[in-house]
Amino acid sequence: MERRRKHWGWGYEDEQPSPEEVRAAAGFLVGRLGFGSTEPEQPVPLSDVSLPAPRVTPPAALAAICATDEYERALHCYGRSYVDIVRAFRGRFEHPPDVVAHPRDEDELRATLDWALSIGAAVIAFGGGTSVVGGVEASTGCGDRAGVVTIDLKALDSVLEVDPVSLSARIQAGATGPGLEEQLGEHGLTLRHFPQSFQFSTLGGWIATRAGGHFATLYTHIDDLVESVRAITPAGVWESRRLPGSGAGVSPDRMLIGSEGTLGVITEAWVRVRRRPVHRASTPVRFPDFMSGAEAVRALSQSGLYPSNCRLIDAREAEVTGAGDGSHALLVLGFESAEHDVEPWMTAALEICADHGGTWIPPTRRGSGPGRASGEAVGSWREAFLRAPYLRDVFIAIGVLSETFETAITWERFPGFNEGVLAGVQDAVQEVCGGGFVTCRLTHVYPDGPAPYYTVLAPARRGGELEQWTQIKRAASEAVIDGGGTITHHHAVGRAHRPWYDAQRPAPFAAALRAAKAAVDPTGALNPGVLIDP
Ligand SMILES: Cc1cc2nc3c(=O)[nH]c(=O)nc-3n(C[C@H](O)[C@H](O)[C@H](O)COP(=O)(O)OP(=O)(O)OC[C@H]3O[C@@H](n4cnc5c(N)ncnc54)[C@H](O)[C@@H]3O)c2cc1C
Repeated sequence: MERRRKHWGWGYEDEQPSPEEVRAAAGFLVGRLGFGSTEPEQPVPLSDVSLPAPRVTPPAALAAICATDEYERALHCYGRSYVDIVRAFRGRFEHPPDVVAHPRDEDELRATLDWALSIGAAVIAFGGGTSVVGGVEASTGCGDRAGVVTIDLKALDSVLEVDPVSLSARIQAGATGPGLEEQLGEHGLTLRHFPQSFQFSTLGGWIATRAGGHFATLYTHIDDLVESVRAITPAGVWESRRLPGSGAGVSPDRMLIGSEGTLGVITEAWVRVRRRPVHRASTPVRFPDFMSGAEAVRALSQSGLYPSNCRLIDAREAEVTGAGDGSHALLVLGFESAEHDVEPWMTAALEICADHGGTWIPPTRRGSGPGRASGEAVGSWREAFLRAPYLRDVFIAIGVLSETFETAITWERFPGFNEGVLAGVQDAVQEVCGGGFVTCRLTHVYPDGPAPYYTVLAPARRGGELEQWTQIKRAASEAVIDGGGTITHHHAVGRAHRPWYDAQRPAPFAAALRAAKAAVDPTGALNPGVLIDP
């Protein structure tokens, strides 16, 4: 039998820890954080959930690929933000889709789309459902539709072609991170796009949301790895040419990249792949404080060395994740290459770090050759990074509010911006939760500025979490926009970021986007409420 994903949280049903295990984790976490409850709540089982009857019925020709049962509708109701998981944990499934379709090829996808359009339903493309911005939730914008049809791309999960000459691969949109890496691995190739949601998120979802992945410099977003895209729109097929680069006007790829399901359903893409790295070096570097670390990161980002990993973590976050003791900021610095020894790059990068007060313990094993090289702190950080999505489910059970937000800003504004955001959000956290804290790390860096990523951990008021987070998120978003940052560096806009995205974008651009949507989706059926008003 196929493993089923948890309908309310992260991972598979068979991965859910037992109540005793959650209780044991609660004791440890409450001790470490200083808040939360040692009496965990249990999620509402699906058998206790009742959803409104579906408003539309698929035609016989599509019955085999359409589901209307409670599990499928609940699973596809939300993404996986904190507020999504809280609602699902409590058995609150607002706006479930009426029908979930699982097309196995483009013909079935087109037939589903045609049917949904013919009955006036909203259509939501669904990859892994890991959106953290309300991207797959049929709330805002969907109210006046005859129904909601969610199209799950899961069955379109193959690497269709590999071009070893140009180092590109044609991959279907529903392929998940592990799925596509496994298939590329058979050719000795890799995409090396590793968002934290890698386990479940999909190529189509990454493209639709402009996801940020593994590389901290250079190839930060999926945008940089896309060679061409193919999508089905109500007006026909939108497919761009495979080109290494092109100056032919506004890019048809770039317009689909980040379209968040509003212009068409992406079915496949040619992406730039690479040979698997065999030379790696990784060193944790300590800085006495976050800002001296940030100065080192700025110098690194402008040095032309382009480390693959360059994540600066503040002292509190390093402590919470077990990568530090709270007395220093930590830079996780890494280089990788399939072709050449990276040791000279690491040596040059460490010299830059030393110039800014960085210190490190020479790693026991570093340098060229297959395998992973890392210090203990890097290992702890990596572990914490991979565990985080699972841990969030436990946090909800033990009454800990846990959520993140991210942005980008130019270097010359970063110190003041960061201070303003931290102060504004810390005040809101204190006021709303009576305690808790905000931490910062730099996830991606550019020669002209960093992408800061903030984590909020605070005592939650059981039953009041949504109001608590709404207030904190408002304070965070206002601080980010007022400080000149972007409302999102890689989490996308969805429904949650609309007010601030609308404030950030130029008005003529918004008009052009509306006109583009009207041209390819004249009835406004595709993901209404996302990016632009229906
Ligand atoms: C724990 C966690 C960690 C995360 N870490 C990262 C991270 O490191 N980097 C990052 O960038 N994001 C991250 N995210 C956010 C999320 O994983 C990304 O936005 C991801 O790209 C979504 O992919 P998905 O396949 O799950 O898409 P979904 O959540 O299913 O959909 C997201 C949006 O894209 C649209 N869409 C999906 N597939 C298609 C398609 N084939 N055609 C057209 N539109 C489509 C949907 O309609 C929706 O608007 C994280 C989320 C979680 C919960």
